[in-house]
Formats: sequence, structure tokens, C-alpha cells
Amino acid sequence: MVTALLGLNTEELRALVQEEGEPAYRGNQIAEWIYRRGARTFEEMTNLPDALRVQLEKKYGVGRPRVVTVQHSRDGTAKLLLEMRDGARVEAVGLPYEDRFSCCLSTQVGCPVGCVFCATGLSGYTRNLTAAEIVGQALAVQEEAQESSSGVDERSRRVDHVTFMGMGEPLLNYAASVKAIQLLNRELGIAMRHLTLSTVGFVPGIRRLAEEQRQITLAVSLHAPTDKLRRQLIPKMVKWSVAEIIDACHEYVRQTGRRVTCEYCLLGGVNDGIAEARELTNLLHGLNCHVNLIPYNSIRGPGFRGPSPKGIRAFREVLSSAGIQVTQRVQRGPDIDAACGQLQHRINTVPAIDEA
Ligand code: SAH
Ligand code: SF4
Repeated sequence: MVTALLGLNTEELRALVQEEGEPAYRGNQIAEWIYRRGARTFEEMTNLPDALRVQLEKKYGVGRPRVVTVQHSRDGTAKLLLEMRDGARVEAVGLPYEDRFSCCLSTQVGCPVGCVFCATGLSGYTRNLTAAEIVGQALAVQEEAQESSSGVDERSRRVDHVTFMGMGEPLLNYAASVKAIQLLNRELGIAMRHLTLSTVGFVPGIRRLAEEQRQITLAVSLHAPTDKLRRQLIPKMVKWSVAEIIDACHEYVRQTGRRVTCEYCLLGGVNDGIAEARELTNLLHGLNCHVNLIPYNSIRGPGFRGPSPKGIRAFREVLSSAGIQVTQRVQRGPDIDAACGQLQHRINTVPAIDEA
């Protein structure tokens, strides 16, 4: 099987072409083609000499995932089902806004954490994705948006915000997630602050990000102010208490100077009461954070329901009156199951055919 070049940064591509007996600047040209000009094959790399293209084709491929299906929501959201070389499938979502173009990427095929309210978690786990497979999703989302848009402005639109909020737990796939962040930043030009990593609260990973002083936006999915409640919602991530997760968040703020986002999925009658709002307020006291409330998006299976509008207002009010900044996530793409927690894990055993 040929080796994929997607996933290598400019320096690595420079070294690779030098090993092939070529001048290093050819590596810059290849990076330009792969990351900025969307090339899928060496044939498209018209400023490379023919002999080099033929030589590279023998050993390497670009390695973009295959787009299996695209679904468009009424609100402009696009959900792509993508297939990797081994047939594994993940979903990625493109979210056009007036002032930015965001995409939501998967970091694993399925998820081993198994939160009881999340479609990905309930559908099992296969494997980690590589950095190339993560970045390949962003390129696919961008290309699809450019191809399907009608206006000139939209056609030139580039992904400028990325969230690791698709399928999987990025901190359980630390090396590939961090490598993907570096590629998105340096090769695709996306600002570190516009890269958001969302974690279920895997403490060793948060501490490592803090230690390495990564300037990304860190979002921590808390969902419960007490261990008892959190254990019910995330039964497999019981090793770290809520207090330990908050401690790690303090450490992240100390090391990076960045404010943390606490995500809280509101489940009607489960964690959306005034009592929980008060406990959450106490827990977050003194932490440089903002709370992002995510009303539950329905998935097949468990009998959860969303919070009532009145309940959301009351919950917000408790936090805001204690001086905590609160936002509410706007639901995008629910008609195509592209909203938070609705991405599914599907496996296919047929290998991708057009993956170079
Ligand atoms: N594994 C990471 C990132 C992917 S999940 C994490 O858990 O943070 C991204 C976000 O979607 C998380 O905050 C998660 O709690 C939320 N989510 C999962 N299922 C949901 C659902 N059914 N409704 C609303 N939000 C959900
Ligand atoms: Fe995994 Fe995040 Fe879904 Fe939990 S919410 S199962 S950690 S993807």
C-alpha cells in the first residue's frame, strides 16, 4: 500500500523529497498543493517535473478520505460521511456562519467513553484516527462547501474555525489530535485560538495540554456538578472526580492564560434543575471559564428529553447572577442528525477506491 503524504508538515515533506534526491523546495510546493490547493493526486501538481511526479506516484499517495455521502440541512449545515483506507467511516460537519466557516471533526472511529446520551458513544468504538485522517476531514468539508456553493464569495470561503467535537474523545488520541492541530494551524493557516478541543474530562490529557502550553481553546464536557450524577451519565469515566477535573482546568488556565469553556448538556429532569445550577456555580467559583449550555439533541435509544425553555432560562439565571458568563449552543443541522451527539459510528469493510 502506498504511503500517504497528507499528515506530513512542510518540513517533513522537504526531508522526504530530499531523500528522493530532489531539492527541498519541492517539499514546499507539495505542501502548498495538498493543504492550500486541495490536490488529490500528483498529476494535479503541475509545477513538479513529470519525472518526479511519476517517481512519487510509485511510492506515495495524497491520502484524502473518500466522500461517501453528503447531506445538507435547511440551515446550511453539511454532514459528510467519509471513508478511510481500511473502510472505517466517520462523519464530519461543515457549519457556515455569516462571519466564519467552522467545521466539526472526528478524532476516533466511534468512542470508547460511552456517554449514555451520545449516539457516538452508544454505537461502539473501532480505532483512533491518524492526524492525516483528521485533517483530511477539514479538507473534504472545505472542498464540498466550495463545490456546492453558488456565490463567488462562498466559493473562495475557507474553513477558519475547527472544533474537535465530532465522533470520539480527542484526548484518548492525544498524539494524532495534537499533530492535527499543528497541521491545521501551520499548513491550513487556522489560528490556534480558533481551534477548539472538546474533552469529556480526561484529566491526564488536560494536564499534558496545560504543561505543553497549547494555545488552543479547551472545552471540557462536565454535564454534572457531582460525582454521583456524572457517574450515571458517563459510567466509564469514573476514575477522575469532578473536583479533579476542575483542578486540571485551573492548571490549564494558569499555564496558558486562556479561559476554559465548560460544556453542559442539559437533560430534562436529570441535570437541569436549580439545585444542579447552584452546585455548578459553587464548583466553578474562581475558575476563569464560561459555561456553554447544550440542550439535549434527541437520539434513538435512551429515553432522555430536552430541557424546557423555562428550565433553561432558570438554569442560566442562577449562573449569570453569580457572575458566570453563560452561552447557549445554537442547534445546527438537527434535520440531518448533524447536531452535537447525533453523529453515528458506521463501519464499512469495502476499501476506499479513489484514495490515492
Ligand atoms: N468526546 C468529546 C468531544 C465530542 S462530543 C466530548 O465529549 O467533549 C461533543 C459535545 O457534544 C460534548 O460536549 C458532548 O457532551 C455533546 N453531546 C453528546 N451527545 C449529545 C446530545 N445527545 N445532545 C447534545 N449534546 C451532546
Ligand atoms: Fe465520546 Fe464525547 Fe460522545 Fe461521550 S460525548 S461518548 S466522550 S464522543
